[in-house]
Parts: sequence; C-alpha cells; structure tokens
Amino acid sequence: MTQMALEECLACGGGLEAVADLGEAPVLTGALFPTRDSARAAVCGQLELAVCHGCGHVQNVAFDAGLVQYDVSYDNSLHFSSTFQQYADELVTRLVDEYGIRGKHVVEIGSGKGDFLASLSATGANTGVGYDPTVQPDTTIAGVTLVQDYFRPGDQVERYDLLACRHVLEHLEDPGALLASLSKAAPEGALFYFEVPSAEFNFGPDGLWDCIYPHVSYFSTDSLTTLVERSGFEILSLRRSFHGQFLSVEARAADGIASRRDNDDAVVQHVELVKSFAERWLSTVAHWRDEVSTLRGKGESVAVWGAGSKGVNFVNAVDPDGRIAIVDLNPRKDGQHLPGGGHRVGMPESLAGTPVSLVLITNPAYYAEIADQVAGLGLDAKVVTV
Ligand SMILES: [Zn+2]
Repeated sequence: MTQMALEECLACGGGLEAVADLGEAPVLTGALFPTRDSARAAVCGQLELAVCHGCGHVQNVAFDAGLVQYDVSYDNSLHFSSTFQQYADELVTRLVDEYGIRGKHVVEIGSGKGDFLASLSATGANTGVGYDPTVQPDTTIAGVTLVQDYFRPGDQVERYDLLACRHVLEHLEDPGALLASLSKAAPEGALFYFEVPSAEFNFGPDGLWDCIYPHVSYFSTDSLTTLVERSGFEILSLRRSFHGQFLSVEARAADGIASRRDNDDAVVQHVELVKSFAERWLSTVAHWRDEVSTLRGKGESVAVWGAGSKGVNFVNAVDPDGRIAIVDLNPRKDGQHLPGGGHRVGMPESLAGTPVSLVLITNPAYYAEIADQVAGLGLDAKVVTV
C-alpha cells in the first residue's frame, strides 16, 4: 500500500533513482532498553535511499510506517547540550523579536518534551499547546499544555499566531498532506516555522551518520522549498542553521505561489553528492572498524561520546557486537541499552580512570564542548570527529 506512494518523490511528485542500500537499521534509534538482550532484539527495517532528479529530494523507499511506534520511551531531546541549548535560545529570541511573538498563542507539532514551547513562553510570555506522542504525561510547564498524541492532517486547534513544526516532516509518509491541511486552515496572519535536518549536510563529508530509519525524507533547500510552496505557503525566509545541519523556513499561507526555485545546477550538484554518499559511508565504516581493532590490540579503549541517533548509527555500523563504551550527558539514558548492538550507555564520569585513549564524536558542532569535558574528567584521550 505505502510502497507505491514512496516510488514518487514526496516533495515534487517526480520519479526516483535508487542510490544507496544501507542495509538494516533499528527502526527507533531514540528508543532505550533496560537490558542488552532486549536492545539487540529491537525491530529493524531496511534503508534504501532513492533520489529525485527533479528537486533533489531523497527518501527511503523501503520505509514501512507500521514498524515505527513513537511513545514515551522515545527520547531524542538535545537540550542537555549547551551548544544545542544556545541554538534553541537564539532561535526563540529571533522569532519573538522579528515577528513580535509576545503574549501570543503558539502551537507546536512534535513538541518532544516541551523545551521549545517552554522557552517561547518564558521569553515572550506566550501560551502554547504541543502535540507529541512521546510526551511524559506528568510534564508541567507554565503556560504550556502538552497533548500526548500525534497531530493529524485536518485536526482542529484553537486560533494560533505561530505554528512551529521542527524535525517532524522528515518522519512523515506524506508530509505534503500535513502541510496542505495547515495552509488551508491557517488563521489570518499566522506565522509558520518549519525545520528539518539539511540533506546538504547529511550527505556531505561531515554528515555520514544521519540516515536513520525514522527518517522517510531527506530535504534539501530545493526539495523543501518545492514542497512548502506546492502545499500553499509563501516562504518569507529560508536558512541553514546550527552549523549548516538544519534547514528552516518561515512562511505564511498564500494562494497560487509559483515556485521560486530556478537553480537547476544546484539540484544536479546535490544529486551527485547523494550518489557518492554510499561509497563514502562504506569506506568510513571500514576505516573505523580497523582503528578500533588496532587500539584494542594495544590494550587501549575507545569511547563514543553522544548516544543520540548519530552515535547509535555509528556504533551499530562500526561495532555491531556492542563492545564500545558510549556515554551521554542525558541522565535518562544512564544504564540503558541502545537498539541494534545493545551498547550500554553510561554518564561521561564513568570514563574517568579507564584506559580510554580515543573519544569519538559524531557531530562536529559539539567538538569544543566535548573536548573541554574530556579534559575536565582528567582523561588523556584524543577527541576525534568521525
Ligand atoms: Zn522531487
């Protein structure tokens, strides 16, 4: 049923070309398991990427929504990192200042644990409602109501001034259906903020670890623009942010917007980048498998810092047996196991006094922050971005 739909580009409706078969991956990289055995038995699905020559969009044509269940055990919060927190605070301040979001009402689709709404409420005295199936039912945030459910196309909500939808569209089998329903029912003058991971980064040299099962789509500047405009929005601003890793648009509902995309060379270049991705991914995995085994042979050990989706993706590719130590600042992950290899997550302090000579990080944006913390723990270890 879904397979047919995925053979057409979700952004522009064009045809697709297969580009990378990355094999099996756990369907929820953000899920945590109490035991190693249960983590190793986690449900997996196929990652088969295809690219659209019309707009550069990439999607997993093997995606099966029936495998993915989001619930309260899913935790992809990045707010424990000061680097991310700073980015999120600057975004909130900018939206409040540029668009006068003060004393207004905000709806967020995919609000996670409510951090973004809490910040909008604190910064601009706004009220907010967030929809997310992963909300902890007992969460209390001043001015904010969190609804533990999906927001579905056509769902009715009270009048809002800002609708934010961050890192959701890439998870949907039909992102255009949600966007079209929002533009159709948009309150007069409402601002829309959509943010997704940037495919330019994901498929570039620094972004090898972002292809995860829950992502049906990988939006590029051109494919996001195409989809948002086709769905009945006028784009006010389009930007790449967070070290080039995110792509966002600010938009208002509008009729009859002609696509402003006119740079087909950019699409051709992006398609080439995507096509070279599979080869770079395989050679990088082989390189780190060798390095880890060489260090082990010398009695040294390797740790991965960061048990977010990139970290899970990396350890599963390089260390499928689940032997590498992995640490994370999020205390909710402490002592839990990661799907796939069953790696056990510890707090960074657990590395103190161990023979770790190499700390690997999967996201260059956190390099300075992590290098400081490694030094603070008294570890004599090199910090390297994989
Ligand atoms: Zn397309």
